[in-house]
Amino acid sequence: SDARLSDFERISVLGHGNGGTVYKARHRRPGCPTAQTQPLVALKLFAVGDLSAAREAEILRIASDAPHVVRLHAVVPSAVGAEEPAALALELMPGGSLAGLLRRLGRPMGERPIAAVARQALLGLAALHALRVVHRDLKPSNLLLGGDGEVKIADFGAGKVLRRRLDPCASYVGTAAYMSPERFDPEAYSGDYDPYAADVWSLGVAILELYLGHFPLLPVGERPDWAALMCAICFGEAPEPPAAASEDFRDFVARCLEKKAGRRASVAELLEHPFVAERDAADARRSLAALVAEAEQSGGAGDL
Ligand code: ATP
Ligand code: MG
Repeated sequence: SDARLSDFERISVLGHGNGGTVYKARHRRPGCPTAQTQPLVALKLFAVGDLSAAREAEILRIASDAPHVVRLHAVVPSAVGAEEPAALALELMPGGSLAGLLRRLGRPMGERPIAAVARQALLGLAALHALRVVHRDLKPSNLLLGGDGEVKIADFGAGKVLRRRLDPCASYVGTAAYMSPERFDPEAYSGDYDPYAADVWSLGVAILELYLGHFPLLPVGERPDWAALMCAICFGEAPEPPAAASEDFRDFVARCLEKKAGRRASVAELLEHPFVAERDAADARRSLAALVAEAEQSGGAGDL
C-alpha cells in the first residue's frame, strides 16, 4: 500500500548505499496512536532521479513474500509525481548486514555460521529464480540478519525480471567486485549462457569473503579498481579456501566459483550439497545467532 514520507519518524541511520540512505524509522499509522504500538521499519530513501528505486519496487512487489527475501511493507511515491518512488518501507532486519557483522566481529567467520548464511541465501535465490528474478548484486552488505540466525536477501536495485529465458544479464549493473566472468565477457561464454548462474558466482565470492575476512579476489588492501577486478575475475584462477578448510566447504565454494557458467552448480544442486545439509541447518543457525550476539556486545547493532 502507498504511504507518505511524513508517515515515518526517522530514528537513526542503518546504512548508506550507492542509492541513498536507509533509516530505522517508526511508521505512524492511524490505528497505532502511541510510539510503542507503531511498527519499526527500515526506510530506504532514494536520491531524486535514481532509476534503481523503480526497479527495486517492481521486483519487491513480485518477490517480497518469498522466503529469505526482505519484505516490502509500503512504497512511498515521490511527491513530484516522478515514476520512481521516493522511498521504500522495508522489514527491519535487526542484525544489520553480513558485511557489518564481519566488521564488528573483527575476525573471519567459521564454517558453521557460514553454512547458515549459504543455505538461507540459496533458499532465497531458489525462490527468486522461480519468479524469474535475478538479483545481480549479491554481496555481504546485501545479506541481512534477522533474529535467531535468520538471513534474508535485500537490495534489489540491480535486479531484473527476465521476460525471456535468454534475456542478457551481462549489463554492468551491481558491484563489479562480485560479478561473474560471463557478465564481463558474455561472448566468450555464450555457448552455455545461464543468466541465473551469475548469482551463484556472487554467492561464492561472498561466502569466501566471510571465511577469509577480506575480499578474496584481490590482494588485501588493494583498491578495487575496475580494470584490476576484471583481470582477476576473467583471467585469474578462481579463488579457493585454504587447505585448512573442510573438504565440504572447499568443494561447495569450488562449485560456486566454476568460471564456466555452464559448469557452475545450479541453486538446486547446491541445496543438495553436504556443506548446507538440512539436518545441520538448525545447528548452523544457532551458531550464526551466537556470532551476532557476540558482535552486538563488542560493537553495537548498527552497520556504521
Ligand atoms: P549499495 O548500492 O551500496 O549496495 P543500496 O543503496 O542499494 O546499497 P541497501 O543495500 O538496500 O542500499 O542498504 C544499504 C545498507 O543499509 C545495507 O548494507 C544495510 O546495512 C542497511 N539496510 C538496508 N536495508 C535494511 C533493512 N531492511 N534492515 C536493516 N538494515 C538495512
Ligand atoms: Mg546494498
